[in-house]
Amino acid sequence: MTPRPSPMCWTNWGRNLSVSPRRVEQVTSAHDVAAVIRDAIRRGQRVKAVGSGHSFSPIAVPGDVQITLEASGAPVDIDAETGLAVVPAGLELHRLNRLLWKSGLSMQNLGDIEAQTVAGAISTGTHGTGARKQGLAAQVRALEMVLGGGDIVTCSPEQDPDLFSAARVGLGALGVMTRVTLQCEPAYYLEAAEEGMPLEEVLRRLDELADTTDHFEFFWFPHTSIALTKRNTRLGNPPAATRSPRRASVDALVENGVHELFCRAGRRLPGQVPKLNRWLASNAWPSHYAGASYEVFTSARRVRFVETEYAIPREAIQEALSRVRRLTETYAVTFPLEVRFAAADDIPLSTAFGRDSAYIAAHVYRGRPYQAYFEAFEAVMNDYGGRPHWGKMHNLTASRLRSRYPLFDQFLAVRDKADPAGVFRNHYLDRVLGLPAPG
Ligand SMILES: Cc1cc2nc3c(=O)[nH]c(=O)nc-3n(C[C@H](O)[C@H](O)[C@H](O)COP(=O)(O)OP(=O)(O)OC[C@H]3O[C@@H](n4cnc5c(N)ncnc54)[C@H](O)[C@@H]3O)c2cc1C
Repeated sequence: MTPRPSPMCWTNWGRNLSVSPRRVEQVTSAHDVAAVIRDAIRRGQRVKAVGSGHSFSPIAVPGDVQITLEASGAPVDIDAETGLAVVPAGLELHRLNRLLWKSGLSMQNLGDIEAQTVAGAISTGTHGTGARKQGLAAQVRALEMVLGGGDIVTCSPEQDPDLFSAARVGLGALGVMTRVTLQCEPAYYLEAAEEGMPLEEVLRRLDELADTTDHFEFFWFPHTSIALTKRNTRLGNPPAATRSPRRASVDALVENGVHELFCRAGRRLPGQVPKLNRWLASNAWPSHYAGASYEVFTSARRVRFVETEYAIPREAIQEALSRVRRLTETYAVTFPLEVRFAAADDIPLSTAFGRDSAYIAAHVYRGRPYQAYFEAFEAVMNDYGGRPHWGKMHNLTASRLRSRYPLFDQFLAVRDKADPAGVFRNHYLDRVLGLPAPG
């Protein structure tokens, strides 16, 4: 049964989660956050900060008190010379991107959308694509946070380095971030080249495509032998024309536009999905356009779906993908699989910790059954030591995740110190991190 919305009902973007917290607190400063936490401790309640609600997993579901951080009016401090930006944790990426651009700066990388908040995006390890580029959390240089006892602290590589290291991808388990310092780059433009290619060719040339393109990804249409490739190349100078003469292929066929119509048709006539996908894939037109980095990286998403995504060692991508291809033949999947890349980083719970990674994401149109498909997908990813995106759907528990993250126990030690009373716990964190040791 779908829960009925109440005046305080919170629903995530995917509309697969809907809850009514006991209390919602909209706050602006670290002192406000500390007061809410102290009050919650007195009442024996749990607290959860929420961003834009763009996680599919229940990571942001509040136990009792939900905190939202009001970013408008909070100071933003951007230093164009050093590239350091000190921003409110609740600032949405779309506002951040425009503020940076005006100061001559860009984010080093971005995912597909810019609706998330800064704190929400980094907390789950949000990433874009690029074999030599890391996820968003790798740009963090310092954090102001309120810990589980209500103490306001600042951490950085020099100041409480253990807390800093873990908190960059902190799953909302260590504290409520109030300000984030990001290392940005001089503003850059991107030129996008999108074209359909035989999947076999993409797989044969995969290393070349991933290694010679700044930001390479591809979408494979299940039930077809066609992939839609997207190559984003950084430009030293502003492009002559920034607008595409035609609507971008990926936007129309994979993210928005006609894709919604095809998803609806596939929902009504599941038997026709292979035919529909073949039509879509064979109509992918080459498209070239250029623009400010954030405009080319991201787009609005109007077609609603639920999603799972796993990071696997980059060298396993060919084999893993061929197994997932066989699997999709069993299911009437309309959404293409998305394949992306990232360079290794050193963040304890980052999905790319210590290994160059490839990501495979599987999506299912809203209202369609997804459990069996996602479970079968997960079983394949498990064979490659897959690490699920913390903000997307998966069924893994602490016992399996521990072996996939070499610094898992160090993260728990930091968590136990930062939040000894478990004020930031929720069901999801208890599942993926395990229950804290008694006492
Ligand atoms: C359409 C769509 C496209 C997406 N594209 C991508 C993509 O390209 N790449 C990718 O990697 N992911 C992608 N995602 C996933 C998304 O980036 C993550 O789930 C992200 O965490 C959502 O950010 P949010 O601001 O909505 O945070 P929420 O989902 O609201 O919260 C996420 C986590 O952050 C914590 N949190 C929020 N604010 C604070 C705070 N102030 N202090 C401490 N913790 C906090 C929450 O408690 C929770 O644990 C996509 C999701 C959607 C719906």
